[in-house]
Formats: sequence, structure tokens, C-alpha cells
Amino acid sequence: MNDCIFCKIINREIPSKSVYENDKVYAFYDINPEAPVHVLIVPKQHIASHNELTTKNVDIMKDIHLAVNEIAKQLGIADSGYRIINNCGADAGQTVFHMHYHLVGGTSMGTKIL
Ligand code: 5GP
Ligand code: ZN
Repeated sequence: MNDCIFCKIINREIPSKSVYENDKVYAFYDINPEAPVHVLIVPKQHIASHNELTTKNVDIMKDIHLAVNEIAKQLGIADSGYRIINNCGADAGQTVFHMHYHLVGGTSMGTKIL
């Protein structure tokens, strides 16, 4: 049995506001947005964190990054700019252990990373 909340979102067992989908990737609005645009991009395959990427599954990164570009264009932030953020593990504040990329934009975030 899979108790992963993002697997349940991908399987539509938990509702979400869809932004983009293809056979490998699903993207939806973050439930607690920290920017005017805050989208989560997840592989449909369960990968717990960035630490779990291997030569066997790393091809998914191509799909994730291409999805970022599609979504940024779709939501009108491709030209104004955006950040993509992956939190890996405790120090980064990862709370959901199904790897995901935050796509945030729609406001000026300045020059500092943190
Ligand atoms: P993390 O801290 O693991 O990088 O980020 C997890 C993100 O998932 C958080 O920004 C949180 O708001 C979001 N999140 C957690 N549960 C849900 C949910 O059920 N639905 C949606 N749409 N986002 C969620
Ligand atoms: Zn999962």
C-alpha cells in the first residue's frame, strides 16, 4: 500500500488543481502558495527525493525540466522569470518524500537565494 500523498494526487485519490500533465509528469498548484505562481512538478513514478536519482531513473529530469518550460510559458512567467527549487532532506525542509520541483514566480524575488 502506498501512503504517499503525491502518488495519491497523481492517481486522483486526492484532488488537486492541475496545471500540466503528460505520461511521465504531473504538475499542480501548491496548496499553500508562497508566490503569486507556485506550482509543484512531480514525476508520476515514485522517487522519494533527489538522493534517489540513479542512472536508471534520471531520464525523468529531462521531462521535468521540459515541463517547467511549458508551464512557465503557459502561466506567463517565462519572460519575467522564475525559480525552480528542489528541497532534498531535513535541512532543506523537505516535507513530502515524493521528489518534486517547486516552480515559483510572478514577483521579483531579488538576488538572494535564501
Ligand atoms: P517540500 O517542503 O516537501 O519541498 O514541499 C511540499 C509542498 O507540498 C509544500 O509547499 C506544501 O504546501 C505542498 N503540499 C503538501 N500537501 C499538499 C496537498 O495535499 N496538495 C497540494 N496541492 N500541495 C500540497
Ligand atoms: Zn509518491
